[in-house]
Amino acid sequence: MIDTAQLVQMLQAISTAMQQNKERLTELDIAIGDGDHGINMARGFKEVEARLPSLAAQYAEDVGGVIKATGTTLVSTVGGASGPLYGTAFMKAGAVAAGKTAVDGPLFIAMFEAAVEGIKMRGKSTTGEKTMLDALVPALDALKQTYAESGDMRKALEAAVAASKDGVAFTKTIIATKGRASYLGERSIGHQDPGATSSLILLETILASLPK
Ligand code: ADP
Ligand code: MG
Repeated sequence: MIDTAQLVQMLQAISTAMQQNKERLTELDIAIGDGDHGINMARGFKEVEARLPSLAAQYAEDVGGVIKATGTTLVSTVGGASGPLYGTAFMKAGAVAAGKTAVDGPLFIAMFEAAVEGIKMRGKSTTGEKTMLDALVPALDALKQTYAESGDMRKALEAAVAASKDGVAFTKTIIATKGRASYLGERSIGHQDPGATSSLILLETILASLPK
């Protein structure tokens, strides 16, 4: 179970990871976009980080409130495609968790599912288009399958991270058909999608900061 205090620590760790990976994500976006993905993610989560102390107090008994506020903060502070997309993902996940004092395995799966649906709807996108969805959708599938088999959230998240890694590798092999990278057409082949990479970082950080 992840309560508000643990969730706040997790979001803090995500912000740290985004600051640490700022250069790397930006380099990936220089290759097939406009070179701002790392800057966008680092800026957005820095803003989330700044709000964490007040969110922890305001939503001590409501994990959904913290996650929803994370989403609205990302939407309002991150430009580009990724701000509204990640923002929608957190807002949808937060709505599913509204009023809950902690997140357990089934709730986490429902939140992840709502997040992915939110991105698909907002981005009018699906898998195979060289976006964050190529990391997130396989991760969700693996998460659900492994949780159904084992009932073990850590194992399920490990499987999700592994599937997401494969998804990121897959983005290298395909043509971008959504977002700025689609302007490159075939020249996008061979490059790893920045958004898929930030999604992998997000999942890796959730796993690493899962309470014992
Ligand atoms: P921008 O492309 O506006 O500069 P970012 O560089 O921050 O925004 O984010 C780019 C990432 O957003 C891409 O690598 C891709 O993963 C993701 N992305 C772009 N368009 C879509 C979409 N329609 N659906 C899902 N993800 C998308
Ligand atoms: Mg960009």
